Amino acid sequence: MHDIEAKSILSPKNGMNLYRGCTHGCIYCDSRSECYGMTETFEDVGVKRNGPELLEAALKRKRSRCMIGTGAMTDPYLPIEKTEELTRRCLEIIERRGFGFSCITKSDLVLRDLDLLQSINSKAKAVVQMTLTTWDEELCRILEPNVATTYRRFEVLKELQKAGIPTVVWLTPILPFINDRPENIKGLLEYCGEAGVKGIITFGVGMTLRRGNREYFYRKLDQHFPGLKQQYMRSFGSSYVIGSPKGKVLDKLIGDFCKQHKLLHGGGPVFAYLDSMEDDRQQLSLF
Ligand code: SF4
Repeated sequence: MHDIEAKSILSPKNGMNLYRGCTHGCIYCDSRSECYGMTETFEDVGVKRNGPELLEAALKRKRSRCMIGTGAMTDPYLPIEKTEELTRRCLEIIERRGFGFSCITKSDLVLRDLDLLQSINSKAKAVVQMTLTTWDEELCRILEPNVATTYRRFEVLKELQKAGIPTVVWLTPILPFINDRPENIKGLLEYCGEAGVKGIITFGVGMTLRRGNREYFYRKLDQHFPGLKQQYMRSFGSSYVIGSPKGKVLDKLIGDFCKQHKLLHGGGPVFAYLDSMEDDRQQLSLF
């Protein structure tokens, strides 16, 4: 762990990353890609200790309230957040200033901040997004080794539902020849239905690979799935977008489920919902 003196904290789209790097160890992690200019070891997490002060100043300058997001490049609920509490301090600022908030995480540590999420949600809007990739708990421990497993994330989604916090699930990435099975997707969809999520995000059924994350992913395939790296190389070469051969079938499963349960589906509608300060009842009536 090392400190970073950040110059600014909010992106033009009002996203922030309070940490740099991640210790959750997902084997498919896109944030390892070289294009992000990560020169340090990915697991040596950089802590933007001045993040809350920068956020306070940035929100003070805003003329109107908006949603503030976190979690695009690293999980805001890393184990070090337990002691550093940067995410929590930012939530306190967002709550006090009446802004909305959404985060994406795989960690049950988000429940620690339920009080603030509820208060933000009562004044404006708070949404928690969770990634679910595999219904198989053993496989989950291989794909996402250092964070709450899928079943625990499902329990967290239900806790949030009970507390009145809307949730969205990222059903991605789906890795060809690994978790691209209909039973897997059906299991995850059942969890989504039971937990009453508002929407599901997919970007086609598959994953992305590029310099940096490809090498790491292939090392992990060699470690856990001998022979599969060669199958990937034969099937996809050096493509960036790695689509599942079962993509159409699985995409239909997800689409039908969302239609049947009246859930927002796909990047467009879900991102519109996440960006909007309107409450979810108004938003859902549009669909
Ligand atoms: S939680 Fe996100 S940033 Fe962290 S390793 Fe997993 S995919 Fe990468």
